[in-house]
Amino acid sequence: MADAEIGVIGGSGFYSFLDDVTEITVDTPYGPPSDSLFLGEIAGRSVAFLPRHGRGHHLPPHRINYRANMWALRSLGVRQVLGPCAVGGLRPEYGPGTLLVPDQVVDRTKGRVQTYFDGVPLPDGSVPNVVHLTFADPYCPTGRRAALAAAGGRDWEPVDGGTLVVIEGPRFSTRAESRWHAAQGWSVVGMTGHPEAALARELSLCYTSLTLVTDLDAGTETGDGVSHEEVLKVFGQNIGRLREVLFDTVAALPGSTTRDCLCTDAHQGWDLGIELP
Ligand SMILES: [Zn+2]
Repeated sequence: MADAEIGVIGGSGFYSFLDDVTEITVDTPYGPPSDSLFLGEIAGRSVAFLPRHGRGHHLPPHRINYRANMWALRSLGVRQVLGPCAVGGLRPEYGPGTLLVPDQVVDRTKGRVQTYFDGVPLPDGSVPNVVHLTFADPYCPTGRRAALAAAGGRDWEPVDGGTLVVIEGPRFSTRAESRWHAAQGWSVVGMTGHPEAALARELSLCYTSLTLVTDLDAGTETGDGVSHEEVLKVFGQNIGRLREVLFDTVAALPGSTTRDCLCTDAHQGWDLGIELP
């Protein structure tokens, strides 16, 4: 019997999700995840919440053990993951408070481990084979539909689709970098969307990104640029309704055994060389 079927990974400013929870620690072949996992229930669905940066926000984006986080969720039985995160808007019309559900991601991180299949033996002696998975559509279409419908149902007109560019951080972008990102036609910028989605695909997990715009990025405005205080302030103003949207999304997701999206068949016959949890 699985402990949870749906995972929610909370980002900056989002350190707890459910009121009535059971806290458990999970270890993985890749080390410990960012924090304990908090198990609870929404509309009869079992949910595991994990604060991405740790509950005291002690982990910067480049120090998060993304592999451990996704592995821990899967080992609890999770098959569908919702990943809310704070982002900067790259277009004037995507101001603070905008909820954008991206359909594409661009990786501008540096040196993050982004695969389970790197040929390094696991503690049990098994060695993952090398695999190259299809990632043309990085997000779960079913999860995206559920998130968009949930936001609409809460009178929050979400942006359907767009490109999330993920930078290494922890600093914010320069004006030149920001203008360049916008000129590419990308929509929002964040620091944690990669490699989370890529690792989810390797574990055949459905992954849906919900990005909350907390600021206009440096190239989009003429002020002093982005500050961490501003990000947390705007996130705090919106966390109540983001939580409601996540609740409604969880309730609308299909059961783990009735998924019929591309994520479930991600491996398409690849010999993984390891047993997924
Ligand atoms: Zn899916």
